[in-house]
Amino acid sequence: MKLSRLRFNFGFLLEADYGTIRQIELDYPSIRLSEDVTLTPLVGSFTATRTTEGIYIQGQLESSMSLECVRCLEEAIVPINISLDELFYYPAHIAPPGEHRVGDDGMIDLAPLVRELSLLSLPIKVLCRPDCQGLCQECGANLNLGECGCEAEAIDPRLAVLQSLLKDEQNAD
Ligand SMILES: [Zn+2]
Ligand SMILES: [Zn+2]
Repeated sequence: MKLSRLRFNFGFLLEADYGTIRQIELDYPSIRLSEDVTLTPLVGSFTATRTTEGIYIQGQLESSMSLECVRCLEEAIVPINISLDELFYYPAHIAPPGEHRVGDDGMIDLAPLVRELSLLSLPIKVLCRPDCQGLCQECGANLNLGECGCEAEAIDPRLAVLQSLLKDEQNAD
């Protein structure tokens, strides 16, 4: 999938009186914002308000990301809620360093901001489900799919040694 921009033309709003508000609805089945962030879907709405300093963006977006579960390495669908609350300065030269700004062409690209907020909203540990059983340390089987049979042998390391000794004896016979 190609990278998508989340660009909006606010030229008309820059011409409007201070305090003018526009509401914008988003409804993307799927949108790839960067190499590392694809949001499926991306829905919600935000308002764009013309202020003396530029355009103030405020709203709520909902989405989810498909990631890898840290325990079982299967797909984990992580819900994402994004609160937009950001001033885009206009003209660009009045923006303090590091702040967002409206392009000279009146365009705002929300992709970098939405990407950043999406990544910030992710849990530290991504899990496919809260009680994911993970992979067996011995054989690598996905324990969510059932017992692999290794567990009984791995209860106690000393016992495991004994068992392997017993096995060796049996094999010797
Ligand atoms: Zn998992
Ligand atoms: Zn196993």
